[in-house]
Amino acid sequence: MGTLFRIAAYAADDPARVFRAAFNRVAELDAKLSDYKPDSELNRLCRTGRAEVSRDLLTVLTVAQDLARETDGAFDVTEGPVIRLWREARRTRRLPTPAALMEAADRTGYRNLAIHGNTATLLVRGMQLDLGGIAKGYAADEAMRVLNRGGLTQSLVAASGDLVIGEAPPGEAGWKVGMGQAQIGETFILGNCAVSTSGDTEQFAEIDGARYSHIIDPHTHRPLTDRIGVTVIAATGTEADGLATALSVLGVERGERLLVGKRGVTARFT
Ligand code: ADP
Ligand code: MG
Repeated sequence: MGTLFRIAAYAADDPARVFRAAFNRVAELDAKLSDYKPDSELNRLCRTGRAEVSRDLLTVLTVAQDLARETDGAFDVTEGPVIRLWREARRTRRLPTPAALMEAADRTGYRNLAIHGNTATLLVRGMQLDLGGIAKGYAADEAMRVLNRGGLTQSLVAASGDLVIGEAPPGEAGWKVGMGQAQIGETFILGNCAVSTSGDTEQFAEIDGARYSHIIDPHTHRPLTDRIGVTVIAATGTEADGLATALSVLGVERGERLLVGKRGVTARFT
């Protein structure tokens, strides 16, 4: 998933075996959900256009599609062809041509991904799914499940901007989590929740003087250029990760309207 996963836990016994099991679970999910690995389950689905998918892929796609409907497509895992073009642009510092963008955009749209039972179908040829906005949160949730099952309940899983936080360390009220830039940031004391941060503070590129984020607005098929940062606290990593990406696209006003209907979610825009 293009990032480093870190696990911290308080343990009475040697935690090595449980740690290994949790990291193995993350590796297993990377092999299924990555869009970088040609042989991932995700990319096999994209090549065949229709497949029975694993429970993991089904779960992530189902949550992603719910969020797409809820945000009117601001969160959209079918934006892959466009995301790839802009990824290339960030690397080469050359903007995609309008023709290439139009061609890629024709192969997007969450309504073109159908899920019935455990079968996923891509309704347009050449579609490419990209779970980069949600898979890390799901993998962190699953790592936490493995830790809990192995008795490590006072644990924390961190995948760069996505944290899944378990029970408080011994004798503490919670885990200390710093947010925002080092100088002006705040510290929160958290337990049994997930925190995700999105935005262009870490991943962006400057091309011809403009600043391009790695988050795309699916309505324009262009990267965000305003420096929005969003931190979301939610019950699960999957929800926090997806929402943080979605809220980056929606911006403060539309984002806050989305949050009105949500219980147990806190978001902070910076
Ligand atoms: P990070 O990868 O820095 O943790 P995010 O969770 O916000 O940040 O995910 C950004 C990734 O999500 C992008 O690199 C891309 O793979 C994917 N993505 C970009 N725009 C969207 C979007 N509008 N909807 C869903 N996924 C997106
Ligand atoms: Mg995200």
